[in-house]
Amino acid sequence: MSYNVNEKGYYGEFGGAFIPEMLYPNVEELRQNYLKITAEPEFQAEFDALLKEYVGRPTPLYFAKRLSEQYNTKIYLKREDLCHTGAHKVNNTIGQILLAKRLGKKRIIAETGAGQHGVATATVCALMGLECIVYMGEIDIKRQAPNVARMKMLGAEVRPALSGSKTLKDATNEAIRDWINNPVDTYYIIGSVVGPHPYPDMVARFQSVISKEIKEQLLEKEGRENPDYVIACVGGGSNAAGAYYHFLDNEDVTIIAVEAAGLGVDSGESAATSALGKVGVIHGSKTLLMQTTDGQITEPYSISAGLDYPGVGPMHANLFATGRAQFISITDDQAMQWGLKLSKMEGLIPAIESAHAFAVLDEMKFKPEDIVVINLSGRGDKDLNTYIDYFKL
Ligand SMILES: *Cc1c(COP(=O)(O)O)cnc(C)c1O
Repeated sequence: MSYNVNEKGYYGEFGGAFIPEMLYPNVEELRQNYLKITAEPEFQAEFDALLKEYVGRPTPLYFAKRLSEQYNTKIYLKREDLCHTGAHKVNNTIGQILLAKRLGKKRIIAETGAGQHGVATATVCALMGLECIVYMGEIDIKRQAPNVARMKMLGAEVRPALSGSKTLKDATNEAIRDWINNPVDTYYIIGSVVGPHPYPDMVARFQSVISKEIKEQLLEKEGRENPDYVIACVGGGSNAAGAYYHFLDNEDVTIIAVEAAGLGVDSGESAATSALGKVGVIHGSKTLLMQTTDGQITEPYSISAGLDYPGVGPMHANLFATGRAQFISITDDQAMQWGLKLSKMEGLIPAIESAHAFAVLDEMKFKPEDIVVINLSGRGDKDLNTYIDYFKL
């Protein structure tokens, strides 16, 4: 069994491209070209050079000595927090902007919730000198002022979405409307392994550099390429897809996906999609999503903006359905405590999203000889106000 996408754009029963007819030409152009273009040696050389010189890759695989001692197992952290802009998201936006340029696009659009993907997109647009428009819910614009300021400094135009709940899903609707109206010159950069095929596969491929490096680094440090466990948090699922990618077909590697339980899986304030979701269509893809009995999307909740999403990408829906990945949900409180613990024990202030992944150490038992890799998807600078409020710092 393969856990990768098939030629039709499906992971098992999940995926596909459920899009309005007017978007078909845009998505089809991408589908026909993405594999061809990204396989070109010149594309790969430019992508690799930017990851190295601009993003700062390879990111270290750091042996967390104090954590390892406390949990009596070998714990390595993949340091995506050291990427330029502070998280893994830029791996993907670099890949997509290079693709957009080769497709002759002049104008980039994106949507963002907390602003992290907006910043990663505005960054690469500045780098390439392309026009950048980021749609963002009016409420999110107010809640995420520092990221709005970053995007503006980087030369992006931030357009408020004024309809509905004025948050991420409304920003997504605006971005799709823009794309329909500007099909020829505009490229839509999606920020996770979500959306219609080929986006989930394309984003997973760009992020797969994470597990490629883990393999090389483990071989050097431990004399073997494969860990026993790889652990990552899942919002849409891009950092997780990247961390799992080269281990998917090796069943000796246990894959653990960590979702946000929010105030608790059964509290009504949660984003634990595998526990609460049913099969449905969101953002052009058939996947698991949180919805009411008549199919309306349920408003998710998590203290971490990046995990506050009502679905998961189709790759992860399939990993859940097939049992290839073990899904664990972690509450706000558990994640926040781990934010503090990792800061004090290793001198690393994690993004709250990433802090969720560490809480698995309290939920599972590992053997002394096990190699456990945790993907530290981002750093906590952006979350400082949340930490201040929570811990009364
Ligand atoms: C956006 C974000 C996430 C969640 O997105 P995925 O696509 O699930 O990776 C996780 N961690 C950090 C630091 C983020 O910024």
